[in-house]
Amino acid sequence: MEESMPSYIPRTQDLGASHSALHQQLLAWYDRHARRLPWRALPGQQPDPYRVWLSEIMLQQTTVATVGPYFETFLARWPRLEVLAAAPLDDVLTVWAGLGYYARARNLHRCAHVLVEKYGGKFPREEAALRELPRIGPYPAAAIAAIAFDQPAAPVDGIWERVVARLFAIRTPLPAAKPAIRKAAASLMPQRRPGDFAQAVMDLGATVCQPGRPKCLLCPVAEFCAVGEPDMAAPLPLKSPKSEKPTRRGVAFWITDVQRRLLLRRRPERGLLGGMMEVPSTEWREDGWAEAEAQLHAPLFADWRPLPGRVRHTFTHFHLELELWAGQGEGEVPEGRWVTLDALGEQALPSVMRKVVAHALKNGG
Ligand code: SF4
Repeated sequence: MEESMPSYIPRTQDLGASHSALHQQLLAWYDRHARRLPWRALPGQQPDPYRVWLSEIMLQQTTVATVGPYFETFLARWPRLEVLAAAPLDDVLTVWAGLGYYARARNLHRCAHVLVEKYGGKFPREEAALRELPRIGPYPAAAIAAIAFDQPAAPVDGIWERVVARLFAIRTPLPAAKPAIRKAAASLMPQRRPGDFAQAVMDLGATVCQPGRPKCLLCPVAEFCAVGEPDMAAPLPLKSPKSEKPTRRGVAFWITDVQRRLLLRRRPERGLLGGMMEVPSTEWREDGWAEAEAQLHAPLFADWRPLPGRVRHTFTHFHLELELWAGQGEGEVPEGRWVTLDALGEQALPSVMRKVVAHALKNGG
């Protein structure tokens, strides 16, 4: 059942007046303390929708510090939407490698095509129209509408959830609290400078209203906050206990040929790490693999030699443990490619596969 929005901000009875004062104080703080970020327009500059879009897609599930260098590389290589749309998907995946959540890269590329072909290379301005673009969800649509086009759309991500849950003292655990948080967030959006306000909330959450112990004494909106002090605020937003992540297991086949080239294979377009390159492996499943069964899943016949140790990696929904078997082979494999070891850096290898490569090279592969 949807939780109704808390109908108060304490210390004043007039919600409209208190919101208006909150806007003024938070925007004044933002004018002095806004973080300088590579994708952000400087005060007085018009935001570039392409940069806003690119950064918001990259920032989903990923920190500002991690995204920074990737954003700069992307922009240097594909400075405009049309150039990105014309790039081969493989190049985009290669530059994205290491940033994770690879479906974002494929969707970004598809979205660039649609924007160029159907929208003449221009982004729609309205949140609802942005939602029509391929795989643009509620968060990026609101963020692009607010930041690039100054529309009063609330981009509710994890940071916004934290700040709003504390400002309104929403004590229902996530994810059940999401509708109430979205409603409260929408009620906060001002008509004046909504794009700056959206970013001000992000900066407040990143630098003052932080996870763990917030710095309420330094907070520019403390007087409007329903909790207003660190010990009360720290546990918010509450979260429902998570179930344990399962561990899946697999065998990865480190196959080199007589020229010491490594066999890589492209993963299917759909699904986890879709379209990325991999060291071929068995399926990843919770039951382990018996030697005889795993051999049946190798892409080529070889005399296998197990390498010591295991490669461990954690995805959002499971832990992965991979054994590595090394062998020599030759021949063609569907979606396969023989790559010299010094060219591995040019391949779209996700983080888990980079770990596999590093482990194999260190352990006699
Ligand atoms: Fe967050 Fe404290 Fe500010 Fe409330 S007063 S918004 S809990 S930093």
